[in-house]
Amino acid sequence: MIYFIGAGPGAVDLITVRGAEILKKAGMIIYAGSLVNPELLNYADKEHCEIYNSASMTLDEVIDKLISGHERGLVTVRLHTGDPSLYGAIREQIDILRAKNIEFKVIPGVSSFFAAAAAVQAEYTLPDVSQTVIISRMEGRTPVPERESIRNLASHKSSMVLFLSSGMLKELSGELIAGGYDESTPAALVYKASWPDEKIIRTNLKNLASDAEAAGINKTALVLVGEFLNDKEHNDYKLSKLYDAKFSHGFRQAKE
Ligand code: SAH
Repeated sequence: MIYFIGAGPGAVDLITVRGAEILKKAGMIIYAGSLVNPELLNYADKEHCEIYNSASMTLDEVIDKLISGHERGLVTVRLHTGDPSLYGAIREQIDILRAKNIEFKVIPGVSSFFAAAAAVQAEYTLPDVSQTVIISRMEGRTPVPERESIRNLASHKSSMVLFLSSGMLKELSGELIAGGYDESTPAALVYKASWPDEKIIRTNLKNLASDAEAAGINKTALVLVGEFLNDKEHNDYKLSKLYDAKFSHGFRQAKE
């Protein structure tokens, strides 16, 4: 069986139990070496497991290896960072396997955007502040459809998480402000969330690029933007209905 597994954001104990159990049985692992923590490979029986770093491989080479593992009856793992459904390039692999009638399974992972929220101890969905998280990226070599430009998305002033954009922070904050966020809107840059060398910069849109530059961060980071990052004094969120004493729901009667 071939498994696409989400490795989690970095910390070796933030892979799922299911993912780790499969790694223990793996006969072949192809891991995305640019971002997957190599210490995760210690779950595998390294003496009997073939291990490849996909950083220097093409799609065809990856597929050839997956198929070779499959044909030899090995538990074959494609290990992607975070959760494979976000910027993971799994679809192109899946479609080739489907065309060849080769079975596979996808095991989810903890995305870095969850690890980043944990790092800053924030909740993206605060009542009366925002009930929506927009996940996107600046256009790079991979184009972004015009209707999804940062400027357009910013007009919602929801909570936002930007992947793959920490090398373009000046342009990013310019687009966010042009789209509708005030330049004083809080922003956080989380570098290597959950890794031992994690760094957090709390700032606002105006100072995002200069603060990141001063800290020397231009890759492996997420940008979080929105009022949800404000501290209690500057945050007019409402308490949740779920735990409101006056509110009944399927599991609890109101106290009055
Ligand atoms: N599938 C992954 C994302 C892969 S795209 C996930 O779910 O997290 C790679 C981008 O993800 C990086 O450029 C960076 O923006 C972000 N990223 C991945 N791991 C990260 C981490 N531990 N901390 C901060 N950003 C991270």
